[in-house]
Amino acid sequence: MRFKSLRTRIAFVVVLLMLAAQAAAYVVISSVIERNAVSNAEQQLAVAERVFREVLRTNGEKLMQAATVVAADFGFREAVATHHESTVVSALRNHGSRIDADIVILADLDGKPIADSRGYVRTKEVFPFHALMRTATHGRERSAIGVIDGRLYQLVAVPVKAPLPVAWVAMGFLIDDRMAREMASLTSLDVSFLERQPDGRWLTLASTLPANRIAHAKPADGVDDRYATRAISLTSTGAPVVVVLQRSLTAAIAPFHRLQSALLAITLCGVLLSIAGSILTARSVTRPIAALIHFARRVGSGDYAEPIAVKHEDEIGELAQAFNRMQEGISRREHRITELAYTDRLTGLPNRAMFSDRLQQSIAEALPQQRAFGVMMMDLDRFKYVNDTLGHPIGDLLLCEVAQRLRATLAHHCGLVARLGGDEFAVLLPDDDIVGTERVAVRILKALEQPISIEGQPVDVGASIGIVTFPDNGADMNVLLRRADIAMYVAKRSNLGVARYEEQHDNSSAERLSLMSELRRAVEQDQLLLFYQPKVDLSTHTVKYVEALVRWNHPARGYVSPDQFIPFAEQTGYIKAISYWVADRAIRQCAAWREAGIELAISVNVSARELIQSSLPDTFAALLRKYDVPADLLWIEITESAIMDDPNRAIETLDRLHALGIRLAVDDFGTGYSSLSYLKRMPVDELKIDKSFVMGMTENRDDEMIVRSTIDLAHNMGLKVVAEGVETQATLKRLADLRCDLAQGFHLSRPLPPEQLEAWLERWHEAQDERLGGRSPRLSATSTLPST
Ligand code: C2E
Ligand code: CA
Ligand code: CA
Repeated sequence: MRFKSLRTRIAFVVVLLMLAAQAAAYVVISSVIERNAVSNAEQQLAVAERVFREVLRTNGEKLMQAATVVAADFGFREAVATHHESTVVSALRNHGSRIDADIVILADLDGKPIADSRGYVRTKEVFPFHALMRTATHGRERSAIGVIDGRLYQLVAVPVKAPLPVAWVAMGFLIDDRMAREMASLTSLDVSFLERQPDGRWLTLASTLPANRIAHAKPADGVDDRYATRAISLTSTGAPVVVVLQRSLTAAIAPFHRLQSALLAITLCGVLLSIAGSILTARSVTRPIAALIHFARRVGSGDYAEPIAVKHEDEIGELAQAFNRMQEGISRREHRITELAYTDRLTGLPNRAMFSDRLQQSIAEALPQQRAFGVMMMDLDRFKYVNDTLGHPIGDLLLCEVAQRLRATLAHHCGLVARLGGDEFAVLLPDDDIVGTERVAVRILKALEQPISIEGQPVDVGASIGIVTFPDNGADMNVLLRRADIAMYVAKRSNLGVARYEEQHDNSSAERLSLMSELRRAVEQDQLLLFYQPKVDLSTHTVKYVEALVRWNHPARGYVSPDQFIPFAEQTGYIKAISYWVADRAIRQCAAWREAGIELAISVNVSARELIQSSLPDTFAALLRKYDVPADLLWIEITESAIMDDPNRAIETLDRLHALGIRLAVDDFGTGYSSLSYLKRMPVDELKIDKSFVMGMTENRDDEMIVRSTIDLAHNMGLKVVAEGVETQATLKRLADLRCDLAQGFHLSRPLPPEQLEAWLERWHEAQDERLGGRSPRLSATSTLPST
């Protein structure tokens, strides 16, 4: 049998044990009782036998005395002798009645009765005097049992002597049902007298029992299921006579039966009590267990609000305490896990997960009333540079310092500052409109402008912040974050520091998206062209260098400026295919010009993305071999910021390019954040002053200062200087005065297709020859300027 609940199982086992114990006790006690009853009955029988024999003996004595008195009576003897019948009879009666004898008989010496107390009789029947006499003289008892007229008597016989015996006097008590009852009342047993018949059967002569209950089949000592029986043989004058004493076992056991019922009642009570007790015990065990189960379920569902109350001091109490400790442990660890999951380990600021959660929550809360709030996305400028030059530990400290300043700046706002990863941070400003958010952004930039010193090292970082507001810029978390990101890039590109999102940003990015698929086709369908812009030597006026600049002749848009698709190609990785195409075309062109006797070195622009690709030098080496072009005719221009993005990787690639014999120029010099120590370590041959300084240098003294000092710096380092963006004769003149080495710009020539460049070169040489002819010492391009 299987019970599901512990309570039922405990109750069942206890009740089962109790029942077994009670049943065993009942069986043992019952058998003891039965045995007791039987032995009791047997004892009673023994006592009864003694009593019975004593009664017989006493009666016998009584009879003997009375009979002796009769026999010795003188008048009686005379009456016997004289056969005076009436005297004899009255004497017999008188003496008999004195002891209540039932029968008094006078018999002759032959045993024939002469008279008895009932009257004078003449009968042929022989009275067993001789047997009686024998008994009287030899037996232990003076009396014997005899049957007269079918009735049983205890008899004694005494001779009447005159002086010789002349007759016998016999006296007896009747043994009948009454006598049996008297005996029964003395011994509290059933008493029966039986005589054996000539055919062996036993005949009941007197009894206290109804005929069917008498053990007359075979009167013998013994115990059957109803009676304990004792059969006593009596001294008899004729056929054997027994008295049967019977003790009813039912009666004997009756008092014990009451005991047994009491016992049974006690057993039943015990069982009932044990059931109740076991149920209570089981409940007292299972109820706290049920409470523990409930508690465990609660903990399982993450409810750690309340510990379980410990009421017991037993094992269950210990278990409850263990549960409480477990709950504490779980909640502590869960708290820690949540903390880890939502905190940026380095700065201790909330992390991206936390920021997303809170932003989502803010949106949900602000949505019903369309309440405004601001989100900022911030990215550090030049962080990678700091990380690489000063080491990661310093980079980490810088991030911590930035985090600290952000926290301090926003201390009075209930906003959330988070580090999204790397050098990217985000701020959530609840209840703030665009103006308020912009103000906070400016404060953050100010805070970061304060000089930062880490372990004694001054570190200069700036930041670009993009701003969006809910609900104006979107009601969806991902939209808001993406737009904040776009705004941030706008801020970075435009060097504004802060930019708020405007729809046109996104439009241009949609435009960029369609560009993507078109750009892929551009290379395949040969829509790209390579133009060449000459660099003029300011001291010799010779042209030995050209810069290759890519053009996209879009079937619908016309010429697309590289400024519009190169950054996009860099972002999407498509730049690789474009660069390869450019390098291949440029080197092929170089070989073609050499073939035609035009010795020109070609500069190729390489973007930051490619600079960190280790395959770049191999690609160029292979192309130079392919077109059999000497390496020193190939120049590579890399922007200053591309180098400073990841200076270590850049140096590695530049070293390998330089080892091949390829020349290197730093493009757009002055716009980025260059470290002179880096510049010194790089195998650079040329600096290109950014056109933004060159174009304004004749009007703006600051720009001229920058141009001048860059030229000095380059010369001090043994580098050549190129000025790009030369648009006027005045600029050209000033650059020559400042001893700039080379000039490039629309004033000299726009970037041109190869054939046009060849024509331009021809005109240029003619003009120079003229100049050397001494007529016009003017350095100028008289070329037709093709539109680009
Ligand atoms: P960059 O390397 O600084 O190239 C010089 C840019 O200045 C060219 O613009 C050129 O047309 C322009 N320029 C030349 N002289 C003057 C002048 O007197 N005044 C003004 N205002 N501009 C002048 P372009 O061809 O539109 O190229 C723009 C940028 O695109 C380049 O700047 C370069 O960074 C990138 N680029 C061009 N071709 C390639 C290429 O093949 N590969 C890669 N990676 N980038 C390229
Ligand atoms: Ca360039
Ligand atoms: Ca440039």
